[in-house]
Amino acid sequence: MRLQLLNEDITFREELRAFLADNLDPDVAEKVRFGYPISREEQDAWTRKLNAKGWAAPNWPVEVGGPGWSMVRRHIFDIEMKLHHAPELQGFGFSMVGPAIIKYGTEDQKSYYLPKILNADISWCQGYSEPGAGSDLASVSTRAVVDGDDYVVTGSKIWTSAAERADHIFMLVRTDPDAKPQLGISFLLADMRDPAVRVEPLMAFNGKRLWNQVFFD
Ligand SMILES: Cc1cc2nc3c(=O)[nH]c(=O)nc-3n(C[C@H](O)[C@H](O)[C@H](O)COP(=O)(O)OP(=O)(O)OC[C@H]3O[C@@H](n4cnc5c(N)ncnc54)[C@H](O)[C@@H]3O)c2cc1C
Repeated sequence: MRLQLLNEDITFREELRAFLADNLDPDVAEKVRFGYPISREEQDAWTRKLNAKGWAAPNWPVEVGGPGWSMVRRHIFDIEMKLHHAPELQGFGFSMVGPAIIKYGTEDQKSYYLPKILNADISWCQGYSEPGAGSDLASVSTRAVVDGDDYVVTGSKIWTSAAERADHIFMLVRTDPDAKPQLGISFLLADMRDPAVRVEPLMAFNGKRLWNQVFFD
């Protein structure tokens, strides 16, 4: 079998290469190439350049900002990004919480969160693990109880990467304690700047914070 790109896909690849030549900061590409961390500012600047071109979320549907590419184009995009050492976009927003909001969110949630994810105006951390719940998430015990228009959350999350700089968290919380352990769990979004949220460092290496514990007091 001989696989060949269509002419329009070759043109698309040339457009991509020209975009990368014009927009990808060589210092950032050098860091990515050698596995050095890039700053949040560098990460956000790259996300915004892709978003301005309509290319930030190849895996999202067109209605919410995806580019509507074929699988071949997505593949070409991925290869060119890797070949040119472009930073990967923040997986929490683009691959985890974004698709969940697209599938299950209300229209208000979609119009509030999705443009902010696309333009790096919001950053996330992931609150799944707990001191008593690792691989077995059916043991999640952080509670969320409805109180008027709010959820009141009590408990803590552990191994929470990037919690020290995220402004939002998506987390698994127990909302129905009477259901069997695998049920009664909800996916909740919360603002990390809420005064009830406390972040404590857990582990650091070479001065860089690796993990946190997040408390809901
Ligand atoms: C780099 C890094 C970043 C992380 N960032 C986050 C984050 O941002 N947010 C977050 O929520 N979590 C995060 N985690 C936590 C991670 O996703 C896991 O939930 C956690 O490491 C596993 O929980 P535990 O340490 O309690 O181990 P346990 O769940 O107790 O597992 C211990 C060992 O037992 C094995 N094991 C467990 N259950 C079974 C089974 N049924 N059968 C056979 N073997 C089993 C496991 O494979 C493992 O080897 C991060 C972890 C790492 C390493």
